[in-house]
Amino acid sequence: MASIRRQAPSNATSAIKPGSRSPLHATKRNETHAPRPTTISNFAVTYRCNGRCKTCNIWKMENPEHGEMGIDDIQSLFESNRDILGDVGSIQLTGGEPYMRGDLPEIVSTIHHHLPRCTFWIPTNGMLPETVEMTAEILETLDGRSLGVSVSIDGGEKTHDDLRGIEGSHRNAVETLEGLSHLRGEHQNLALSVGMTVAQENCGEMLEVAQLAKRFGADFTFRPVNHSEIYYRNPVEGPNPAFVADRILPAIREIGRDLQRRKGLRASTPTLRYMQGALDYIRDPRDRSLPCSAASDSFFLDPYGNVYPCIFLDMPLGNALEKPLHEMWRSREAAAARRIIGGGGCPNCWVECETFREIRRDVRGLISAALRALLHPSTAGIS
Ligand code: SF4
Ligand code: SF4
Repeated sequence: MASIRRQAPSNATSAIKPGSRSPLHATKRNETHAPRPTTISNFAVTYRCNGRCKTCNIWKMENPEHGEMGIDDIQSLFESNRDILGDVGSIQLTGGEPYMRGDLPEIVSTIHHHLPRCTFWIPTNGMLPETVEMTAEILETLDGRSLGVSVSIDGGEKTHDDLRGIEGSHRNAVETLEGLSHLRGEHQNLALSVGMTVAQENCGEMLEVAQLAKRFGADFTFRPVNHSEIYYRNPVEGPNPAFVADRILPAIREIGRDLQRRKGLRASTPTLRYMQGALDYIRDPRDRSLPCSAASDSFFLDPYGNVYPCIFLDMPLGNALEKPLHEMWRSREAAAARRIIGGGGCPNCWVECETFREIRRDVRGLISAALRALLHPSTAGIS
């Protein structure tokens, strides 16, 4: 499968490969005919966080609550931009730790009022005891629309607590998972998953976390450590050591086989494709076998109203409290971001929130993943 090799943004225009979209063409076309976004891949409702993670520095921000949008700001943002946001069908409400916002149910209710067909995902570290109760409140406001909650668990108890930087955080996360699992018995529109950030320190514990997820009837997903100056605020270190990919390969294959047994090939193919891509990203974070539609289909909204193409690309499009989104969407800044993304000049990433929408569209990639799984059942087609 052809892959796009990522370059530093400053080299973007010279990095365009033969056959890829011309940057000038992209600028002209996108400036005049920018489609409406269909996803807010991430709306970080706060940068406050009770975690102290080794792989993320959001928690080190000073006074993150200063300037955070209040519920009135959020209400007015969605009200005044109702036109351009009319096609948005899914939003991930992230943080920091999103449940640190006591008004999270109100935030969801406000957005739901303006975008009644929109579904929501909320990733959480599961450390706050009120998470289950607040989730129940959110479900009450959604009129049956789908809500997914993903509890982050990064290994067995000791490894998780070390990585999260808080003793007892694993126990709290498991209690939250258990509570959410009970809640799901009463709410069919609640989806539950366990998410793991795979690093050098925990790469041998993936199966343990996947089995924990299964015990509570939750899906399991993982992502490699990604780097972002505007979001995780973690410096780009050297490449992942080769042993990380080697170490997780048998676990991924087992998870893939199990998924296929339980859900069937058709339903599991996007996840198999995602897992192969994650493995490839760990082996070489510059390679990407998918195009990306950030800044065309989706954007990232930070807690202060700033809009970016995604959580990785430091190309602000403006502040939504000061400027209408439709102006930003048709601006030269947005066109420049699309040009860079289309030309392979973005930092590159492999995270669920920015990748699954592309995987679902990539019919050839899906067929290929399904065929590999059929032809190589012992490995679920993952190599
Ligand atoms: S990874 Fe999540 S829990 Fe950890 S510090 Fe960052 S935002 Fe907080
Ligand atoms: S989400 Fe951002 S960093 Fe990731 S591929 Fe798309 S533009 Fe690049």
